Amino acid sequence: MSEHELFSIAPFMDWPKYFAGMGTPGIESLNVESPTFFRRLESTFVQHSLEELKTYMRWQFVTNQAPLLPAGFVNENFAFYGQILTGSKELRPRWKRCVEYVDNDLGEALGQKYVDITFGAEGKQRTLNMVREIESALRQDVDKLTWMTPVTKKEALIKLDAITNKIGYPDKWRDYSGVIIKRDDLPGNDQRATEAEVRRHMEKIGKPVDPKEWGMTPPTVNAYYNPVENNINFPAGILQPPFYDNKLDDAVNYGAIGAVVGHELTHGFDDEGRQFDPTGNLRDWWTSEDAKEFEKRADCFVKEYGNFSPVAGVNLNGKLTLGENTADNGGLRLAFMALMDSMKGKEPKAIDGFTPRQRLFLGWGQIWCENAREEMERLMAQTNPHSPGRFRVNGVLSNMPEFREAFACKQGQPMVREPACRVW
Ligand SMILES: [Zn+2]
Repeated sequence: MSEHELFSIAPFMDWPKYFAGMGTPGIESLNVESPTFFRRLESTFVQHSLEELKTYMRWQFVTNQAPLLPAGFVNENFAFYGQILTGSKELRPRWKRCVEYVDNDLGEALGQKYVDITFGAEGKQRTLNMVREIESALRQDVDKLTWMTPVTKKEALIKLDAITNKIGYPDKWRDYSGVIIKRDDLPGNDQRATEAEVRRHMEKIGKPVDPKEWGMTPPTVNAYYNPVENNINFPAGILQPPFYDNKLDDAVNYGAIGAVVGHELTHGFDDEGRQFDPTGNLRDWWTSEDAKEFEKRADCFVKEYGNFSPVAGVNLNGKLTLGENTADNGGLRLAFMALMDSMKGKEPKAIDGFTPRQRLFLGWGQIWCENAREEMERLMAQTNPHSPGRFRVNGVLSNMPEFREAFACKQGQPMVREPACRVW
């Protein structure tokens, strides 16, 4: 949108003054991600008095700062957001909360220390090799798909070749030298760090995108596919047990971090990834036929996961969790294919009584071990696009004939789904 278009959908705001106040350089056009939000905000502003709006803003400010304020605020904040909403019984220890604030505010400074202590060169190399194996499994998989049209397959393979892999931590660390940290001023530290972060983003305006920048800090136990840069990102935090263990055999690691790699990769090719081309520009590269066939198969997942019930009376939302469930199912299959390929027909001996195939599935089960209270399960079922751990495990495994064979499950048994769902 041009600045003018933004003014026309949200005239309540003195935008030039706002942009100037934020220290924004001149803007020619801007990306308004949620125009509806701004249109509706207009009526909110009209309906409420200035005093009411000030009260709301004051409330927002205090509630955001509450975890950083003295104990009275911290405890009151926890009583609602922790106890009532998630069922927590006690506040997390002070040191854990402190580490989390440092990760939020100075993540790449903390990350440097974290990487020094936890992340070796061997981990990076083994992970990179695994990523390449899984990319080549996806290449084979796309090739064999029955539902994707040949023209679209060609596009998919071009996109796959263009993906870049970012493992562990950034090549260049972020500079925090402008942030003043004071020992006795926690809210001030947070505010100054936030200001510096906003400035850093403002300085990007009008400049080329830096694809080497990371959207997660190194200690984060998570991973992501970035459609606008066509890259997959695995912070050092997820390259630790139980996701990745240097001391364990490939089978377990493929079933764990390998499946996560596969999961992220499929995001580049699903109903979200189809909208972005190999360079990350908005261009839908699917035909309408592909979309129809994809949806037909995806619908099977909507029904499957929509029948899972984490808490009595609450079912998962099959549509909300569809994208993630599809990626989980594809991810573990790709990991399985890659492991089979890497063994080159020579299957290693069983370890602790389990074959490599079985150990791959155990690896998948172990990464999703979790413990949640009923309140949390209820909240997550309504808001989280990821299914709870036990359904991520059983949902995927019961769809896989490879699992059935590995553990000699028979038709009609709980872990054999009829019909089995499959997209990738
Ligand atoms: Zn995902």
